[in-house]
Amino acid sequence: MNSETKLIRTQVPRSANREHSVPLYFTSSYLFDDADHMADLFNDEADGFIYSRYSNPNVDEFVQKVADLEGTETGWATATGMAAIFTTFGALLSSGDEILSSRSVFGSTHKLFTEILPKWGIQTKYVPFDNLDIWEEAISPNTKILYLETPTNPGLDIIDLRKAGEIAKKHNLIFVVDNCFATPINQQPAKFGADLIIHSATKYFDGQGRAMGGIILGSAQLIDQIQAFARHTGPALSPFNAWTLSKSLELLPLRIEKHNQNALEIAQRLENHPSVEWVKYPFLPSHPQYEIAKSQMNGGGGLVTFEIKGGIANGKKFLNALQMLSLSANLGDSRSIATHPASTTHSKLTEEDRLLVGITPGLIRISVGLEHVNDIWADIEQALG
Ligand SMILES: *Cc1c(COP(=O)(O)O)cnc(C)c1O
Repeated sequence: MNSETKLIRTQVPRSANREHSVPLYFTSSYLFDDADHMADLFNDEADGFIYSRYSNPNVDEFVQKVADLEGTETGWATATGMAAIFTTFGALLSSGDEILSSRSVFGSTHKLFTEILPKWGIQTKYVPFDNLDIWEEAISPNTKILYLETPTNPGLDIIDLRKAGEIAKKHNLIFVVDNCFATPINQQPAKFGADLIIHSATKYFDGQGRAMGGIILGSAQLIDQIQAFARHTGPALSPFNAWTLSKSLELLPLRIEKHNQNALEIAQRLENHPSVEWVKYPFLPSHPQYEIAKSQMNGGGGLVTFEIKGGIANGKKFLNALQMLSLSANLGDSRSIATHPASTTHSKLTEEDRLLVGITPGLIRISVGLEHVNDIWADIEQALG
């Protein structure tokens, strides 16, 4: 089957009620037939459900769909994207191990690297996103994981997955990619050697700003290690959120196609506006890594960033003038959302640190939604005015 079909037709076995749409398995535990069945399940000698912290039919269905999309053997679902990221490091690393990471990572991932993991003796070395030769020099005998996001947040820089995959392979590192911004519709890191792929399902997988969730995809061998850790530390995805997310995935290919179209159109219109200093969108020929983007992505995605003339003051003015676009901390929603990182998510960083990760004073990030493109543009244009 093609991937669009699998997303729609993958379903846990029907119950005796012969429901068409999958039911919600809203249960913490499951019944055992008898004492022997119970013993066999606990000793891994039978397949079946025991307790929803371990597994649940709705969660299994969600995992199966995303693993099919990413082209990996299997996966493990979590309550949030951050739970997926923390679980990955918690399961695979020990005191003394090092992570080599691109400097441009999600804000909470940065906190994890700089403040939380060091408590257990796990250190992270940051490398610039655009010079992979430096990456090789930074690898030490203790380096275990190569970690990156592409496109990056909020700068929308593109990292060469092919090259990063080669470096990881050569030095025997576990190659981990946060693929949240691209989604597997636009980019499949496993094709470039990624061993584990992480998503915040809160974003495009849900797509309507409702349910939180996360997922880690990879080989059965790595996911077994993650499962062994997660079963006993408890970051499980709730059945209700798994059911919601699994339903949302049926429309993911259609939604991403439209996000790609709308975002490209908005990026092009912004590029021709006199109040805009520059625009960054992976599929605009003016993007510094346009060729790499074209070689590893099927579409440019739904996020556009641009630099408004007049710095922080005009960035704030622009947000205050918007009438339809939402001011919200989310992305990947059907509703378009605008943020100004320098005065909000990254305001606690020094200006120098912000510039290191590509956050200039007037940088605006738009998560382009599914409204009519002319209505999205009309609001942006009047606010720029
Ligand atoms: C939102 C996000 C996360 C964290 O996901 P949550 O579901 O909010 O925990 C991680 N990485 C990226 C790139 C994100 O955008």
